[in-house]
Parts: sequence; C-alpha cells; structure tokens
Amino acid sequence: MRSLVWFRTDLRVADNTALRRACAGADRGVLAVFLLSTQEWAEHDWAAVKVDFALRTLRALSASLARLKIPLLIAPAPRRAEIPGIIASLCREHGCDAVYANREYEVNEARRDERAGEALRAAGVRFEVCEDQCILPPGSVRTGTGAFFTVFTPFKKAFYRVLTEQGGGAVAPGLRPQAETGVRASEIPARVEGFESSVDPALWPAGEDAALARLRWFCAGPISRYKERRDFPGEDSTSRLSPYLAIGAVSPRVCLRAALEVNEGRLDAGDPGAAHFISELVWREFYKHMLVGFPRVCMGRAFKPATERIRWAENPAHLEAWAQGRTGYPIVDAAMRQLAQTGWMHNRLRMIAAMFLAKDLFLDWRLGERHFMRRLIDGDLANNNGGWQWSAGTGADAAPYFRVFNPFSQSRKFDPGGAFIRRYVPELADLSDDDIHDPSALPMLLRTRIDYPEPIVDHARARDRVIAAFRAIGEAPADDAAVRRD
Ligand SMILES: Cc1cc2nc3c(=O)[nH]c(=O)nc-3n(C[C@H](O)[C@H](O)[C@H](O)COP(=O)(O)OP(=O)(O)OC[C@H]3O[C@@H](n4cnc5c(N)ncnc54)[C@H](O)[C@@H]3O)c2cc1C
Repeated sequence: MRSLVWFRTDLRVADNTALRRACAGADRGVLAVFLLSTQEWAEHDWAAVKVDFALRTLRALSASLARLKIPLLIAPAPRRAEIPGIIASLCREHGCDAVYANREYEVNEARRDERAGEALRAAGVRFEVCEDQCILPPGSVRTGTGAFFTVFTPFKKAFYRVLTEQGGGAVAPGLRPQAETGVRASEIPARVEGFESSVDPALWPAGEDAALARLRWFCAGPISRYKERRDFPGEDSTSRLSPYLAIGAVSPRVCLRAALEVNEGRLDAGDPGAAHFISELVWREFYKHMLVGFPRVCMGRAFKPATERIRWAENPAHLEAWAQGRTGYPIVDAAMRQLAQTGWMHNRLRMIAAMFLAKDLFLDWRLGERHFMRRLIDGDLANNNGGWQWSAGTGADAAPYFRVFNPFSQSRKFDPGGAFIRRYVPELADLSDDDIHDPSALPMLLRTRIDYPEPIVDHARARDRVIAAFRAIGEAPADDAAVRRD
C-alpha cells in the first residue's frame, strides 16, 4: 500500500492525524502534496503575508518530511474545479492507493473535499478525511438537547467536561521513517504571483520548530502573567501563536498539553495565566464549532438574522481612513498600522478597531472582516468572523449592541503611557502621556503643528446612532438602565 497525504492548513509533522494515518501500513511508502490553490486563496481573501508564511512553512515541512523519507510534491492548482482531478492524477502517476487529509470545516472546503472524494473513488482510490484541526471535533460538544452551543461560557464548561470524562485532545506519538518511494520532492517556490508580501519575514520565523520554540518561550514565563498582561498591546505578553495555529504549524493539542504541564494538569483554576490561555484556546474551538453548527456564518451572513435589517452607512472615505490608520483616534490608527506593517494585530486592538468600524463609523462589519482577512498572517475564517460579529453585535454571544467601546478610554486603560501609539503613529510621539490618547483636545495652535487628522466622527453621536439603529430592529433592552456607558 502507498498513501498520499494532502496537506492544506496542517503544515507540520508532529501530531498530524492525516499524516499518522497515512503512515500506518504504507509498506510502499508515503508521498505528500500541497496544492498552490491560487483561486481558492484569492476567493477566500488569503493575505499575501499569509501566503508567504505558508511557503516558508512548506520549506521547513519538506525538510522534516524528507527525514521521514516522504517527498513533498508541490502542484499548481490555479482553478478550484481542477483540484479533484489533480489529486486523482497524482495518485495514478505515483500508484497511490489511498489519500489522507485533515478536515477543513468551511463550506467551500467541505464541498471541494466531497468532489475530491468522488473523483478518487471513481479512480479506485480510498479517501480518508480526518478530524485534526481542533482539540475536540466540532459538533462533539453539545447541549443537553443535542443542539450546538451559542454562548461561550456553557460551551467551555461542557468542553472541559467532555475532555475530562471522555478523554480526547491527546498528542500523537512521533513517526518513523517510511519505505523509500524513489520520488523526488519538489522545489518550494519563493513566491506566488499575485501574493507578494511587503511584511518583513524576519518578524515571523516559519516552520514547526519556530512554532514550538515560541510555545516553549511562552510557557517558560509569559504564560503566568498572561491573565494580567494580555490586554496591553505595548507588551509582548501573548503567545503570538495564531499564525502557526492558522497554518497548522503547531497543533492545538500540543498547545493545550504545554499549558497543562504548566498548570499541573488542570484545565481551569491553578495558575491563572495558564488557565486563561487554555480558555482562549477554547474560544478557537468555540468558533470552529459555530462554523459547523451555523454554516451561514461562512456565507457572509450575520449569526443574528434580525441584524441583516440594519442599513449600514456607505462611506468609502471613512472606510479608507480606517484602513489607512487616519481616523483621528490614535489607538485605532496605531492598530491599523500595526496590521499593515506586521500582518498581525493584538487582540484588544482587533476588538477596538472592529468595534470602531461597525459602531462608530457604522459601516458594514463585512467590509472590515474582509480587510482584516486580506491583511492578517493568521487570517482564519472562523476566528475572524467570530471576532467581527462579536464586535459588531451581530454574532453568537456577541458584545451587546449598546456596548460601544470609547476609543479614548480604551487607549488610556490599555496603553497608559502611549508606548504602543508612539511606535505606530510616530507623528504623535512627542505628545505627553495624557495628550497622546486624544490630540483633538489640544489647543488649536498645537494641533496645527502635527500632521494628524481630526477625529472623523464624534464618538458620542456615533454611539447614539448605532444604538438607535439596533433599537429600530427590535434589539432594545428591557429598560434603559441596561444601556451602560462603556
Ligand atoms: C475582529 C477580530 C478578528 C479576529 N481575527 C482573527 C483571525 O483571523 N485569526 C485568528 O487566529 N484570530 C483572530 N482573532 C482572535 C484573536 O484576536 C487572535 O487569535 C489573537 O490576537 C492572536 O494572538 P495570540 O496568538 O498572541 O493569542 P493568545 O492570546 O496567545 O491566544 C492563544 C490562541 O488562542 C486563540 N485565541 C485567542 N483569542 C481568541 C479569540 N478571541 N477568538 C478565537 N481564538 C482566540 C488563538 O488561536 C490564539 O493564537 C480575531 C479577533 C477579533 C476581535
């Protein structure tokens, strides 16, 4: 038996279910393939920085697979419709009896796999799609009535219960070298046309070893301060594992195991930082479960259907100012420039920038979701959509519509000395720790000396507008006292 492993967003050797299954009993060796699916990437808004990161990760993967005597083939698949045929003809060419892949839960990816399965069956090749992307397979954690959870806290409780009672989340043992195939591995292209990244690759060392080094660094110290410090974007206090998790250079089970080691086996309680980190990994699980339970979120639709009735503003100039980091709100602008320069944005800032677009600018959250996806090195449909719908108030377990972050107070709270703003908005670097959060409050004479825009909207008025819009579609709270000032 000879197997083919079809790598997609699981670019690693360790704890890779499809790879492990492919190696079991493959006495004539194992081959691997990665498709350069440029149409899929473009349609799904893969950022150039993510493609560059994937290519660099593939180089590391090819070297690791070579040590297992598994050649990694790279095949162009410019059109999605050709993918099943390409996989089937690779099997014919190399005499493979079975193809193994890890499941991708997005609707288009699931349909692609169905078609690939049909083409392979027709060619007499077995196709096995494995559960691998999550700690527990989406759909395996349900309410007492068998429904999908739509609120995070009860989901997390049930998730911990299932993990504890039924096991799961175990890390697979390492693999041994396979039988020789005599097939040569492909060269990994340095770039792919249409996806040229301007982000410095040194910011994001690629590959499984880099991912594990980052995980070790995080678990050796920062994890214990994570709960207190994770909201301060000026500090390197989160794991920054998201690019590795998104491309699959590290498995979520390996991350969980590392955190459990710090926390002496406890999921919650124990070290508050480790427990909180585990809880964030469960947010990732939650959004993947949502994607499977409510596939409409894959198709540009709001989780809360009533919110589809909101008539969002149309203002290309505001969208552009937000995207360029020229809104006149320093924390929002610093966030957007961090994204443009590094391909990543801190979680607190993602919430602030997203809420600003949807609630202050009152623009359709889908515009922001797409912009993020096109820029993020860790772009992931489930997490990005979940984060955007949370921020816009249209999602499952979303921030209530009347919760509208005040960008100035968020800035004072989470970047108190303005260090983060100074880094990304250098034109404000000389302002005092207080003035830097809101230069529009400076006397006119001083304001005219800085090349920085006035706020493009008035926060208080914008807040009233969005609350009125949600009320108009029947999202009113029981009483006005519930409308808190955030
Ligand atoms: C508007 C918006 C858009 C987002 N888009 C994405 C995206 O495209 N890809 C992405 O991976 N995350 C996204 N997130 C979630 C979160 O911001 C990032 O996962 C996190 O900032 C990554 O940094 P980190 O690895 O240092 O996270 P850590 O704080 O170290 O967390 C560890 C891991 O847990 C997971 N995680 C943490 N927070 C969340 C969360 N709120 N939701 C889901 N998973 C989480 C991530 O996989 C992360 O790598 C988005 C959040 C918002 C509010």
